[in-house]
Amino acid sequence: MSVITQPTDLLRRQDPQMADVLDGEARRQAGTLQLSAAENFTSTAVLATLGSPLANKYAEGYPGARYHGGCEYADLAEKAAIERAKALFGAEHANVQPHSGSSAVLAAYAALLRPGDTVLAMGLPYGGHLTHGSPANFSGQWFTFVGYGLDAGTGLIDYRQVQDLARAHRPKAIVCGSISYPRHPEYSAFREIADEVGAYLIADAAHPIGLVAGGAAPSPVPYADVVCATTHKVLRGPRGGMILCGAEFAERIDRAVFPFTQGGAQMHTIAAKAVAFGEAARPAFATYAHRVVANARVLAGALEERGFTVTTGGTDTHMITADPAPLGVDGPTARGRLAAAGMVLDTCVLPYGDQRGVRLGTAAVTTQGMGEEQMRRIAELFAAALRGEAAKTRTEVGELTEGFPPYGE
Ligand SMILES: *Cc1c(COP(=O)(O)O)cnc(C)c1O
Repeated sequence: MSVITQPTDLLRRQDPQMADVLDGEARRQAGTLQLSAAENFTSTAVLATLGSPLANKYAEGYPGARYHGGCEYADLAEKAAIERAKALFGAEHANVQPHSGSSAVLAAYAALLRPGDTVLAMGLPYGGHLTHGSPANFSGQWFTFVGYGLDAGTGLIDYRQVQDLARAHRPKAIVCGSISYPRHPEYSAFREIADEVGAYLIADAAHPIGLVAGGAAPSPVPYADVVCATTHKVLRGPRGGMILCGAEFAERIDRAVFPFTQGGAQMHTIAAKAVAFGEAARPAFATYAHRVVANARVLAGALEERGFTVTTGGTDTHMITADPAPLGVDGPTARGRLAAAGMVLDTCVLPYGDQRGVRLGTAAVTTQGMGEEQMRRIAELFAAALRGEAAKTRTEVGELTEGFPPYGE
C-alpha cells in the first residue's frame, strides 16, 4: 500500500485526523472484498497523476483556446487524453472533460434536446440510472421520460416493447444503458428503432465501456449518435466522465460540456484519464477485461448453485444481479450481512416485482489477481455470511484478501 501510505505519512505530521481517515480507507479497501459493480482499483500511475501539481491548474476552454494563461502542459494532457480515447474506441470525437458520468449525460441531453422533449429510456424500476428520468434528478424535471421495462420471465430487454413505445411516443432521443443490466444491449436493434421514429440514440455505457476497451463487449460507438461513459468503473481510470461521438456532433457536444454545463475542467483528472486510456490500449488490459467476464460467469454459476436466483440466468459482463430470496433474505438484509462479513456490494432493482436484490461485479477482485478458484470461494463465503456466520466469515475474507493486496505489499 506504499502509494497510499506515502502521502499519508506526509499528511500525518500536518493533519493526523485526516491521515487516519486515509489510512483507514486504504485498509478497508485492502482488507475487505470490493464487489461493487461500479468500483475498481486504479493503477499506481493513475493515483500518482491524480496527486500531481496539474491539480492546481485552471484551464477553461479546450486545447489551444483557453480562457487562462499557462496552459501549455494542460493542453498536452488533454490532447493526449482525446487522441488516446479516439484511438481506443474508434470514435471521431472525444470530450474528456465531464466531471462524472452524470455530467456526461447532462451534456448529451443539453447538446441534443430542449426542455420538455420526450426521451425513451429504461425505466428506473428496471435499472435505469438517476439521469434516465428520476423525478429527483434534472432529467425527470426537465424532460418527459417514458420508461421501457424488462421481460419479467427472462429479465431481458423486450425490443418489441421498446419499438411499440417509440412508435407511440415519438421520442426525440432513446437512451440505452443501465445500472444493473448484466447482458449486452443490442445496439443495432436500438439504432433501427431510433431511425424508424427519427430519434437520436444515446448510449449510456458507463458500466460496459471498460469491457469495450478490452474487446470483451460490443461497442456502441458505431451505432449511437452519442456515447456517454465513466472512466472509473471497469475502465479502471480516475473518477470522471467522457463523451464519444461522430464529427457531426463534436461542436455541439463540446459547447454542451463547456461552457453550458461545466466551468474549468479538472486537468489532473484528465491527465489521469490519458494514463488510464494508455493502459487500456495494452494487450494486458484485453486479457484483464476477458478475465473479468470469465470470473463473473463463474461467480454467477457458483451463486446459483448456492441458491441465489441469478437474473437472466447469468451474465455477459462484469456484473451479476441476483435475488437472495430463496436463502430467506431480501437484498438490503443480504447487503448488511455480507458487509458485516467484509464483503461490500450494492442492492439493486430486480426485473420482476418490487423487492430488491443484490448487484455485484468482478472488476476490482480481478484487478487484484483473483481467478475462478477465488470466485467459487466467494460464493461459499456469501452463503456462510447469509447463514449468519459473520465473525467466522469475516476472518476467512481477511485471509483471502491477504493473498491479493490491491497495491502490492
Ligand atoms: C455510473 C453510471 C452513471 C453515472 O456516473 P457518476 O460518475 O456516478 O455520475 C450514469 N449512467 C449509468 C448507466 C451508470 O451506471
